[in-house]
Amino acid sequence: MSEPRHDGLRVAGQVVGAGRAAHIAVNNPFTGALVGTVPKATLDEVRQAFGIARGYRATLSRFERANILNKAAAAVRSRTAEIAALITAESGLCLKDSSYEAGRVADVLMFGALEVLKDDGQTFSCDITPHGRQRKVYTQRDPLLGVITAITPFNHPMNQVAHKVVPSVATNNRMVLKPSEKVPLSALLFADILYEAGLPPEMLSVITGEPREIADELLTNPAVDLITFTGGVAIGKYIASKAGYRRIVLELGGNDPIIVMDDADLDEASTLAVSGSYKNSGQRCTAVKRMLVHEKVAAAFTERVVAKTQAWTFGDPADAATEMGTVIDAAAATLFQQRVDEAISQGARLLTGHTRDGALYAPTVIDRVRPEMTVVREETFGPVSPILTFASIDEAIAMANGTAYGLSSSVCTNRMSDITRFVNELHMGTVNVREVPGYRLELTPFGGIKDSGLGYKEGVQEAMKSFTNTKTYSMPWL
Ligand code: NAD
Repeated sequence: MSEPRHDGLRVAGQVVGAGRAAHIAVNNPFTGALVGTVPKATLDEVRQAFGIARGYRATLSRFERANILNKAAAAVRSRTAEIAALITAESGLCLKDSSYEAGRVADVLMFGALEVLKDDGQTFSCDITPHGRQRKVYTQRDPLLGVITAITPFNHPMNQVAHKVVPSVATNNRMVLKPSEKVPLSALLFADILYEAGLPPEMLSVITGEPREIADELLTNPAVDLITFTGGVAIGKYIASKAGYRRIVLELGGNDPIIVMDDADLDEASTLAVSGSYKNSGQRCTAVKRMLVHEKVAAAFTERVVAKTQAWTFGDPADAATEMGTVIDAAAATLFQQRVDEAISQGARLLTGHTRDGALYAPTVIDRVRPEMTVVREETFGPVSPILTFASIDEAIAMANGTAYGLSSSVCTNRMSDITRFVNELHMGTVNVREVPGYRLELTPFGGIKDSGLGYKEGVQEAMKSFTNTKTYSMPWL
């Protein structure tokens, strides 16, 4: 990136506070260079954003909403290089990852544009019971009366934002978004793309700032009807405690296993394990965070994982050939290093990786890992591949279910009886057979249970449902 961007809030489209003394600096995690600054919003600015949103009623037709979303999708596709460069600069994700993310953002917009054309209202005839009447009951989806607060994490700087904003636009709601203070610039660019595509500015404000100063206002302002949050478990539970009588959608952390049975194609399984572990620098809620392998094939699987890990290039995120950039900052990389050190001190074996240079942590494989070690009991949100073994499917299921999380999973087997058991018995939001846990369409229902979420799904279609109130009405029908 060239010159630093001194950006502002977007209060109903107005750029506010650019270059102000109270700001957050965004530095490139690889080079340390200043990428830009964003203002620390004041409480008055947050309240102003809610006030404008509360007072506005969106009246866009379905056709108009689809048009805006389609235009924005086309803009994202044509500006992929610029978007990818910005994501890479502020997050340290490599260009391969950030270009892929720009494609996903365009998909979210496209699915929003398609879904908004569908009316999923229902019709019920009432003469279907002995005491029935000649009436019909109908349903329609209304936007919320109040405003949506959206809070997003750092790991997909633009796509997480798209998954909140697009369903809000598609349902004619008004949203106040607070992106992660670690990667606010991609969110601001996304908002500008929507305004340029014709979005009425009152439908979206973007607030940047210090969570300690503004988070409670975002959660408790009387205008807020719904809080949609993606991020870690601790803050998700804090939000649940503060939200009071409001709808909340929480998409929280994961600790996803890949389960490799003794009949698995080990070339395929090891490729899935490695790409699931290192794509996006291992910073996906659905990254492979534990490799659970049948003891009969553990040695052959491990050998393949080590070879593929050693071939996984990492380094300068801005180099188009790099397969993995940095993690978000040196503090995160240091935490992974400490967790792996602790596992080694408790008997795990280091097979490759485990070097660190600032925020750059090498793809790392350890085996002889036991379920009680912190590196697998907690979510380790980086490029670490811990290998654990099991002797039976019962043990595999117990191990997979044995953490506080329940987001997604991958199972590698062709035995239908095993697949059926995994689908029925894994306590997870998703089970992907012979695919990475993170496989999804931007459209399809996505989300976890247990500490990974309350079970309400995201994905464009489900988010549109959660952002609406179903109105039921009935009429005489002779
Ligand atoms: P985080 O929980 O640290 O921060 C998320 C957001 O919460 C940020 O915008 C932050 O500013 C904000 N925040 C901080 N304090 C707050 C407060 N008191 N009240 C309200 N908001 C506050 O998460 P992170 O480190 O940015 O992201 C990584 C986590 O997100 C991982 O645990 C990952 O698994 C999870 N994640 C989950 C999903 C999913 O769909 N389930 C997707 C992506 C990431």
